[in-house]
Amino acid sequence: MRLGVKAGLVGRELVPGDVEIVDGRIARVGLSSANGKGVASPGFVDLQVNGFGGVDFLDADANGYRVAGQAMLETGVTAFLPTFITAPEDQLVAALAEMPNGSGSPHVLGAHLEGPFLAPERLGTHPEAARRDPDTELLERLLAAGPVRLVTLAPELPGAGALIDLLHRRGVTVSCGHTDADASEANAAFDLGVQTVTHLFNAMRPFNHRDPGIAGVALSRQDVIVQVILDGIHLAPDTAKLIWSVGGGRVALVTDSMAGAGNGDGSYSLGGLEVEIRDGVARGPDGVLAGSSLTMIEAVRNLHGLGVPLADALDAATAVPLRIIGHPSEGLAAGAPADVVVLDDNLEVDRVLVGGELSGVA
Ligand code: ZN
Repeated sequence: MRLGVKAGLVGRELVPGDVEIVDGRIARVGLSSANGKGVASPGFVDLQVNGFGGVDFLDADANGYRVAGQAMLETGVTAFLPTFITAPEDQLVAALAEMPNGSGSPHVLGAHLEGPFLAPERLGTHPEAARRDPDTELLERLLAAGPVRLVTLAPELPGAGALIDLLHRRGVTVSCGHTDADASEANAAFDLGVQTVTHLFNAMRPFNHRDPGIAGVALSRQDVIVQVILDGIHLAPDTAKLIWSVGGGRVALVTDSMAGAGNGDGSYSLGGLEVEIRDGVARGPDGVLAGSSLTMIEAVRNLHGLGVPLADALDAATAVPLRIIGHPSEGLAAGAPADVVVLDDNLEVDRVLVGGELSGVA
């Protein structure tokens, strides 16, 4: 089957020509075609999805995952990490047990635990009562409850180093977030092998000229990948441009979407918290930002809209997030699984394929 496109993303390059799929895999790219339309990209990978399409993953059942998955496919996402914010242990254990494993469409690559080992002064909307100081036994119980792929924690908390060691031994990626780490604490965490930060600048010690904090250190180190919520609300456009100027190529787009994403304004649950989406902005009862209603295709368009080449914006939604979780990514190289999103000339999602099968059509 040929996609009928005029270019396909291979590595960080849009290779002109059509893309052919055989037996669920990319067979050839760069095929001459007279009137190709749109571009083919590897499917988007979202590392931070609290919920989608009216579904909150913290209390979703199999049907909830189906509904949310279908809505996500329509935004170009073919793989994601269900993300559980700080919650009581029994709730996290139940959510991990309920999570589909591996198969399915879009692919569930494992859970992202955002908490509960977070800095008390940088919780944002996370419930304070469920926050915990580092506790390796609690972490062991959570890891035993279901496949965990990524853990966001505050590395400056006493005992956090032991959590980082344990997670690295288990092959789980650690990300620094909801953290008050200063520059030396941040450098210490990165020197332990932590290679990424969760929603850069949000819920972390702010950058200051004599106190650059973890945000400044993450941008200054070439070995750190920064995750950003590019919805025009969590980061000012000039902040996003600054991030790209310094860190282009090691910026991963995430949505931090909650149940209301893909569903419109209204009242939703985020880990038991009542969240109101108004004019696309999600806020908890105290007015603090509580996730987003952003979709990955919007994030790609927003990054491209800042002047970033389309190929680089697509890379930030595909290969870079996969690099964070140590997942092999071949893009649309020959032999790679045909998880593909086709975008039209207005960068709207035209078609999505998972394993070469036509899936959610927008
Ligand atoms: Zn967060």
